[in-house]
This record gives sequence, structure tokens and C-alpha cells, in this order.
Amino acid sequence: MAWTLDQLNAATPAQALEALDGVYEHSPWIAEQALTQRPFRSLAHLKHALAHAVRTASTEAQLGLIRAHPELAGKAMVAKSLTAESTNEQSKAGLTQCTPEEFARIQQLNADYNARFGFPFILAVRGPRGTGLPRNEIIETFARRLNNHPEFELAEALRNIHRIAEIRLDDKFGYVPELGNLTWDAHEELAKYSDPGFSEKGQLTVTYLTEAHRACAERIEFWMKNSCGFDEITIDAVGNVVGRYHPASPGARYLMTGSHYDTVRNAGKYDGRLGIFVPMACVRALHQAGKRLPFGIEVIAFAEEEGQRYKATFLGSGALIGHFNPAWLDQKDADGVTMRAAMQHAGLCIDDIAKLQRDPAQYLGFIEVHIE
Ligand SMILES: [Zn+2]
Repeated sequence: MAWTLDQLNAATPAQALEALDGVYEHSPWIAEQALTQRPFRSLAHLKHALAHAVRTASTEAQLGLIRAHPELAGKAMVAKSLTAESTNEQSKAGLTQCTPEEFARIQQLNADYNARFGFPFILAVRGPRGTGLPRNEIIETFARRLNNHPEFELAEALRNIHRIAEIRLDDKFGYVPELGNLTWDAHEELAKYSDPGFSEKGQLTVTYLTEAHRACAERIEFWMKNSCGFDEITIDAVGNVVGRYHPASPGARYLMTGSHYDTVRNAGKYDGRLGIFVPMACVRALHQAGKRLPFGIEVIAFAEEEGQRYKATFLGSGALIGHFNPAWLDQKDADGVTMRAAMQHAGLCIDDIAKLQRDPAQYLGFIEVHIE
């Protein structure tokens, strides 16, 4: 049966310690320290207190924690002597079904890794959705991390341990991070659109006003309309997708937030887009709770920032501060298509670009969630 936070807060020290047993592998000292911070206001508060105990521990104690972990698909798995949590994780990732070749490769990597760093390789094998990473991805990550600097790898091991602990805690408390899962899935979904020449190679490249780019805008607009509860949604004259969530009382100022949905060549899936999907998830949660804030929220998916198709950059955000230079319209891409022609083809109204300039007095400010 799942624990509740109230139960944990009210439990005796011994019971509370038992409740958190196994969250950090064979290392009850972490829970013991964190529990001095009771009562916890949220599961996030508890996670933070646990992580803090590790972060402020000595390097020896941190190394002890890392070394308390089993090797990946190692002797302990074969001998079935893993903790219940580790058994669950290694089998969810399919490590118990390795082919003989994969198994041999992992054993070699385990030996090389241990010789280089002096501790076992640790990876949160249940992955970002908690459902398990594919075996080939685990093996690739293992091989790649062998080349890391020892100090970086120590930090990487601890990061993975915190992620493992987070998933184990979510299980114990029966918590599903629904907004996080949605946000993750939105990135995966949007990454399916990629420009010709790259999509065939499985690479992500989305440049200004290509077919893939316009498909991304439509998809973001669709989500804003159908799953978030924005009050106004538009695609503006430069291709930005803009969603506005009204404040509690009309006339209040807006908080602007957002990031770009175009990409560099062979890009990562999260750069830019995280700054769009996170505030969209926030608006969705507010809308579902029937809540309005004292200020409005304007989420902008900027059409262009990376300057890949045309030499101009920040076309999307530049237009909002009156920095769109009309001379850019005559720039040509590698195929000789002018920006003007590309915009007309996309049905954008060039004459309206100047009207996009915002009045700073109407805004509280601009914030951007961003990952590179
Ligand atoms: Zn970026």
C-alpha cells in the first residue's frame, strides 16, 4: 500500500526510517538526516531534503553511497541477490533478457569503468518516463560515459542516484508526475517533424517556415487550443504561436514567457521547446484547477532564433521589440527563396509585422525556461 505524506510526518522515527528504506541503496543515513526536517510540505520537499543530505555529505560518504550500488547486469543480478528495487529496475530495462553478446559487452564495460573510476557505473535505467530505457541506449550511454572526466562522472553518478531515488519515492507514495510526463511526451511528439535531408537520417532540424516548421506551429497551436485552456491563441505575422491566459481581473499586466521552436542542424529535442511546453503545462494546471492569477500569462512559441535558413536571427522575438528589419525580407536561403516569398507561402501577413511590437508597460517581465 502507498504511503501518504501525512503518515510519514506523523510516524515514529523508526517507522519513518523504515518507510524510506531502500530509496537510497543501502544508505539509511540519508533518510535519517532528511527526516530531521519533518514535517514535509510536499513530496518535492522530501526529495529535496534527501538530495540535500547527499550534497552536503563528505566525498567519502558520497563515494560510499555510489559503491553501495550493484553493477549493471552484474554478478548480483545473475545471483539474484539484488535489492527488490534494483531487481525491478534492471528487469524493467530488460537487462535480465540480455543476449549473450550484450551481456559480455556489459561485463567488459563494468570492468573498464571500475578500473577507471573506482566505483560502479550508475544509470537511472527506468529512464525519463519510468518505463525503462532500451538496452542499446543503456549500452551506448555506458560506453560514452567511460570517456568522462572522473570529477564529472562522480557528479553524473550522483545525479543518476537522485533520479533513481525520485522514481522509487514516486512508487512508494503512489505519485505519478502527470504534467512532467505530458511535457516529456510533447517533446517526443514535436521532434517527429524534421526538415528533408535530416529526417531520413533520424536527425532533428527545423528551420524557419519549412513544411516541418509550419507543422510544429500547427501542433503547438492545436495543444494550446485543445488541452491547455488558453483564452486567446494566434499565429502572428512572423509565425510565433501566442497563447494568452487572462488574469483574474481585466486590465492587469501579463507575464511573458516562452522560447523558440526552430532548431539548429541535428539538434537536441529539448533546446527551446522546453521553454514552451513548461509554461503550457502550468496554464493547463491552472485552467484545470479553475484558477486565475493576479496577472495574465502570455506564452510565446517563437518561430525563429537560430538563424539557420536566413542570416537574420531572433526574427520571432525581435519583432516583439520592434527590431524586425524589413531589409531582411529580401534575404535568400540556399535555394534562392527570399524570406518574403517564404512568408507569403506560409500565409503570414507581412504588413502586420510592425504591429507585433509590445508595450513594456503592459508586462511584468519576461522569463524563459531553457535547456541547451
Ligand atoms: Zn537554445
